[in-house]
This record gives sequence, C-alpha cells and structure tokens, in this order.
Amino acid sequence: MTLSMTPDDVLALLKEGNRRFLSDEPMTVQGSRMSRLRMAAAQHPIAAYLSCSDSRVTPELLFGRGLGELFIVRNAGNSLCSTAIGSLEFAVTALGVPLIVVMGHENCGAVRAAVSVVKEHYGFSANINKVLQPLYPAIMEVGDDCQHDLVNTAARHNVQRVVRELQEEASPALRRPQELGTLKVVGAFYELGSGEVEWLDL
Ligand SMILES: [Zn+2]
Repeated sequence: MTLSMTPDDVLALLKEGNRRFLSDEPMTVQGSRMSRLRMAAAQHPIAAYLSCSDSRVTPELLFGRGLGELFIVRNAGNSLCSTAIGSLEFAVTALGVPLIVVMGHENCGAVRAAVSVVKEHYGFSANINKVLQPLYPAIMEVGDDCQHDLVNTAARHNVQRVVRELQEEASPALRRPQELGTLKVVGAFYELGSGEVEWLDL
C-alpha cells in the first residue's frame, strides 16, 4: 500500500480520519480475521508516529486507522531518544513508510513534570529524569510572554524541535528520502478537549 502512496496522500488520509473522529462517525477499520491473516506475513504501515504514552492520546483512534496501518513509537513526552530515532529509521528504511508524524498534546503530564523540575527543582527518580531531560530545552526556550501557558507552549516547542531534528540532523538515513521527496516529517498537536489535531507549521 505504501509503495503507491506519497507523503501528501497519507497526510490527507490522516486528516480525513481525524475529521471522522471529530464528527463521531462510527469507525470502520481493518481488523477482521481475513485482514489479520493477510497482515500476518508482512506489515505495510502508511505512517510512523512519535507520540506521547498518555492514555488519552491514541493515534489509531484519533485518526481512524486500524491494525497494520500505523507504526507507533510512544514515550512520555514524545521525546527523541535513541530508541525512538532507531525505530523511526526502521519504519522508513525497512518498511517504506512515507510519513513521520511527531505528535504532542494539550496538558501533557510529562511536560508538566519537566516544568516542575526546571522551574521548581522538583526531584524525580533517575529513570524518570532520563525521560524528562530531553524536554528541558523546549521549556527553556519559552519566552516571558508565554509563561502563563508554559506547559502547552513548551509541548508545542518540543514537537517543533523534534521535527527539525528529524528533518536535519538526527538521522542520516532519514535525510536522503526527504531530499528525494519520498518522506516527509510533520508536527501535530492534539487538543484533548476538542479532539482536534492541529498540524504545526514549522
Ligand atoms: Zn503527554
């Protein structure tokens, strides 16, 4: 399926899926016994995601996609750790995925926790600190005029930083397909209350 789809084709499908989610249309997604059997031999996802582990932010549901369609990397705060980079590289180079979506969301608990470390020197365990650390630069770059909405502004900045890294420097293996136009990396921000996904303009 991905062989014939351009990045923009996939993006249009995802936008349409979120429109259906927003209008509460019933989901008709792949998941039947026949489709499971077809997929058992190989997967052909149409897009890869780097998104937050938050239980309210489930890409398949938000975009109306079914089994075998989205290759998803999730961690708290959707940050670009080395395993995330490697997993996204695998999706592109081994599975031929034409689109990577980096998705943050409103009221992100991981970003809120990272803000409490940066602003109030709050302490977490060493393992949690490892997850939060990549979020600090996005928090530091929020200007004084946006401090009233620091968590959401930093979450957006984090998405933009990750997209830029994936576009420019994080992975040589991802640069060539982007130069050829066979891969796009885009940023998105999910509003918990409305269910709407905003596509971030970099
Ligand atoms: Zn989150």
